[in-house]
Amino acid sequence: MKFYSTNNKDLRVSFKEAVFNSMPLDKGLYMPELIPKLPQSFLNHIEKYSLTEIAYEVASALLKDEIPADDLKALVEEAANFDAPAVSLNSNTFVLELFHGPSLAFKDFGARFMSRVMGYFLKDGEQLLDVLVATSGDTGGAVALGFLGVANTRVTILYPKGKVSPIQEQQLTTLGQNIRAIEIDGTFDDCQALVKQAFADEELNKKFRLTSANSINISRLIPQTFYYFNTYAQLKGKGFKEIVFSVPSGNFGNIGAGLLAYKMGLPVKQFIAATNVNDTVPRFLETGVYETRPSVQTYANAMDVGAPSNWVRIMDLFKQDTAALKALVSAYRFTDEETLAGIKEIDDKFNYVACPHTAIAYLAVEKYRKETGYNGASVFLSTAHACKFPDIFPPELAAKIEIPASVRELEGKAKKADELGVDFEGFKNWLTKN
Ligand SMILES: *Cc1c(COP(=O)(O)O)cnc(C)c1O
Repeated sequence: MKFYSTNNKDLRVSFKEAVFNSMPLDKGLYMPELIPKLPQSFLNHIEKYSLTEIAYEVASALLKDEIPADDLKALVEEAANFDAPAVSLNSNTFVLELFHGPSLAFKDFGARFMSRVMGYFLKDGEQLLDVLVATSGDTGGAVALGFLGVANTRVTILYPKGKVSPIQEQQLTTLGQNIRAIEIDGTFDDCQALVKQAFADEELNKKFRLTSANSINISRLIPQTFYYFNTYAQLKGKGFKEIVFSVPSGNFGNIGAGLLAYKMGLPVKQFIAATNVNDTVPRFLETGVYETRPSVQTYANAMDVGAPSNWVRIMDLFKQDTAALKALVSAYRFTDEETLAGIKEIDDKFNYVACPHTAIAYLAVEKYRKETGYNGASVFLSTAHACKFPDIFPPELAAKIEIPASVRELEGKAKKADELGVDFEGFKNWLTKN
């Protein structure tokens, strides 16, 4: 399987090249040159398979000529080594818990797979791979924990000082080994600007083998298809025939993976793109006009994206056919007040504490049910554990949130992070000296 650029279908590269480049020079995004269908015989009995067995089947359909079967199997088993249960809240409403990985967010699926793929392609004796990441919280934790201990790699994380939650900061700054953290006296945008400048800097590129680990990397998209198929397996096993997925969306990688799974043969009745007031996609589906805007800060801050980077992939999957896309994807937006009300409603009805991103997905699917009269199975994706966003919850709800053991283990560990300003020379000096 070769991968093309969404800006130029004649440009084809191997999976390895797509992974290490992240983005083609023409600034498109990599997509598989053809979308393989999973065998019907497999889908007919999918409920008999485990998450890693399903993951292998899906990965193999896309990558079998790029990575030998035994290697791919081992890689998938290491990457998807935690559960993704569709937890039943009532007879037809399920919450898909994607937060059982090391950083307690769904980004672990993408980051762990990417780190293993990069580790696999790095041959012995090759130059150390330097991964640079800017993070506003969730991405950095997933990448840090994903690459922790992966041979021949080193990760440098830039995060805005004082602007990530305590648990997020612990995940960035206490790991040690091949993970380094820098707190920048500035905003997330400053962090991102520094990383971008480093990638463009000739001297640094001569000295180091730099790569980014951001969400547009194709190796982060592919593993996110695994849990859509796995959810279908779980619900099919319970006798459901129709599923509606509601996906809390920011950069639209998660729902993009769902749509890729659909094109690979996953039976889905409807997808729902659930956003906060950063509503570029809901507006597009209403008006047909795609107009990006500067992002606005909300409670669901991992979805504060005004220009969703994966949207071009979705348009590419649908061959720019907006009508076909609109038939399969509904979209709803919610304000912070509605999000908070949603969190309370989920607790009242189901005694379940959801993170703000998750609550938006719940609200969206409930609105869809009201508007359409649908009463089949719905699955809303829970993209992070509630404990990562402690400031959002009223005290009576905060008290109910159980802190997972993996987080409590980090609590006693010493923070190690260097502090830098927003000037590029300072960052460049740091990289050169360390
Ligand atoms: C990153 C993130 C999202 C948004 O996912 P996209 O793939 O960018 O649409 C939603 N929720 C949480 C908790 C996240 O960390």
